[in-house]
Amino acid sequence: TKAKSNRTEIALPQDIGESAFHKAIEELRGHLGKEHVELVTKLDDGWYMENPNTHDGMHVVEEDSLVASAIVYPSSTEEVQKIVQWANKYRIPISPISIGRNYGYGAAAPRVRGAVVIDLGRRMNRILDINPDDCTCLVEPGVTYFALYEEIQARNYKHLWIDVPDIGGGSVLGNACDRGVGYTPYGDHWMIHSGMEIVLPTGEVIRTGMGALPGNNSWQLFPYGFGPTPDGLFSQSNLGIATKMGFGLMPNPGGYESYLYVFPKDEDLSQLIEIIRPLRIAMILENVAQLRHISMQVAVEGKPRSAYYNGKGRVPDHIIHEAAKKLSSGDCSWLYYGMAYGPPEIRKYKLDIIHKEFMKIPGARRIDPNTLSVDDYFWSRDRIASGVPDIEELRWVNWHPNGGHVAFSPVSPVRGADATALWDISRKYCQKFDLDLFPIFCVGLREMHLIVEIVFNRDDPVMRNNVRACIRAMIDDAAKLGYGEYRTHLAFMDQIAGTYNWNDNALMKFNEKIKDCLDPNGIMAPGKSGLWPARYRGRGWEM
Ligand code: ADP
Repeated sequence: TKAKSNRTEIALPQDIGESAFHKAIEELRGHLGKEHVELVTKLDDGWYMENPNTHDGMHVVEEDSLVASAIVYPSSTEEVQKIVQWANKYRIPISPISIGRNYGYGAAAPRVRGAVVIDLGRRMNRILDINPDDCTCLVEPGVTYFALYEEIQARNYKHLWIDVPDIGGGSVLGNACDRGVGYTPYGDHWMIHSGMEIVLPTGEVIRTGMGALPGNNSWQLFPYGFGPTPDGLFSQSNLGIATKMGFGLMPNPGGYESYLYVFPKDEDLSQLIEIIRPLRIAMILENVAQLRHISMQVAVEGKPRSAYYNGKGRVPDHIIHEAAKKLSSGDCSWLYYGMAYGPPEIRKYKLDIIHKEFMKIPGARRIDPNTLSVDDYFWSRDRIASGVPDIEELRWVNWHPNGGHVAFSPVSPVRGADATALWDISRKYCQKFDLDLFPIFCVGLREMHLIVEIVFNRDDPVMRNNVRACIRAMIDDAAKLGYGEYRTHLAFMDQIAGTYNWNDNALMKFNEKIKDCLDPNGIMAPGKSGLWPARYRGRGWEM
């Protein structure tokens, strides 16, 4: 469903009058061409593949609160520089997006109302290089996983894979900047990057790593170059705009095989996590391990909650289990989706160990893929874990009409006790705030993120308030036990940044010094990741 609202008034940035703003916009149009600067006069939530660049199409706050005043479409690094210089001249906040499909985290919305969104993706969408020998690529912000995948097929590079996140419409560069993950052995997108080109908040351009050496031929091969390596400052940050980024590409491993194990009881969680840890660290489990709760498996069928239950509060467990009986996986509590890579004899070695370990859980079952129909969700996970972009995962957003989602995503050791503590916090607050929860434990290598997805009806303000209160309570409780989130929605960035406060907020003080030095006018995405420039600090912008 689409919700549309027409606006007559433009959301002006702070500290600038209407006529001064329009004059500034005319000047920007002079630099970029009239058609490449649009004022935001209507909000259309669209859907994933037709995502708005004006606001968050899955807004967990009022639709109107985090909106852009205008959108600009640069075509080159030089034009990005011009926009940044313009923003400094008028002290207008700017907010870069690549594609703006960052659903669950704020999508295209700026953190401050009235910022000018720089939509890099529309015109800066070239694949600058795919090197079939070194297995690397260099891309602009607008290159999606779909586009990179298709180009590799078009060039017939059968020996090259890409790595994709759960939903493949995002930007390869944007997802890495936000430290997103995927599901092949190259799933840590930040780790596998090599080389960035960055436009700084004052308009200069730098290249990191080997890119700083003119004439180099190893920008995508050695990420560090020489001296301090600043790349980290440009991830989850508001210290620069990435205009190019390089990545390693995984060689086709010569075969792959998905597997699915299911486990009967909620209480199996602790033992399961203990089994997973050594296997994952030793890379017997080769990709990000996904342990999903049955509630999510029911939801990914794509039917609305009302097909199962119409009462208030969480859908009772017995109803979820009743619905689960009709699924191809049958009734269970946890599902482990994994993939083994390599030729058959290599896979067999690992699969035998995995089978022996998982079957230690009483009542564990391996689902035979041959019994599953072609449209089973299993094959979506199979595509994702073999680097084929997909969008099936979105089906669970249909749980509520006008569905939106946000997540609580704490990081912890891969230990049964930690999994249980986080699972308890999640259930406690979802119960309290009448919300269904869809938990997934994602094991990176030595740590795991628990991702608790919460779906809400974005046209229901009571439910939205409950979602925000629930996430806030979970963040605070988790922090008391020493758990912090790896990534979050715009609405929770201040709170989460506030939990990383060791030694009297030493890290935030350090970040603020860098921010004020690099961005003296405070124009670049103010407030992103809880980092505010001096001009905004202590003025009630935090939420
Ligand atoms: P997706 O790739 O999922 O569509 P976005 O384009 O919305 O995601 O990017 C996610 C977030 O990453 C943005 O909100 C922004 O903060 C940051 N980001 C994206 N692209 C860039 C970029 N080119 N330079 C700096 N930060 C970026």
